[in-house]
Amino acid sequence: MCIFCSIVNNEIPSYKLYEDDDVLAFLDISQTTFGHTVVIPKKHVANILECDDETYAKLMKIVKELSGKIYQKTNAKGINILHNANEVAGQTVMHMHYHIIPRYDETDKLNITFAENHDKDIEKAYELLK
Ligand code: 5GP
Ligand code: ZN
Repeated sequence: MCIFCSIVNNEIPSYKLYEDDDVLAFLDISQTTFGHTVVIPKKHVANILECDDETYAKLMKIVKELSGKIYQKTNAKGINILHNANEVAGQTVMHMHYHIIPRYDETDKLNITFAENHDKDIEKAYELLK
């Protein structure tokens, strides 16, 4: 069984911040920044690429609610919402989750950079994706 399913089933302890019939939120063990939280559907689904609309809507409602609550309570200056889908994108636990990561300053432990791709072909991307 997957590690997050084990947390849902209380087989592995966690610091739960929110729970209803469909959604669970708990502190991420890494605490990349103070208050780093993951929000998951209780139902096992790998990620956004496989998630049904109803489960997704329920999950995102709680992501939004908790983001505001965590932002206020931690006195963070900002917040990142992150979802990794598949290994190549950094997903290590194959049970869907959104990270809520409060941000305190530019030198905290989360570092996301949108570097410019010098081989970019934006016309080709547009033709493919429009
Ligand atoms: P991913 O890299 O898949 O987007 O994120 C997985 C996250 O799950 C990581 O940030 C990692 O710290 C967290 N994690 C992995 N195992 C456990 C655990 O047993 N308990 C908790 N609370 N978090 C975990
Ligand atoms: Zn699972």
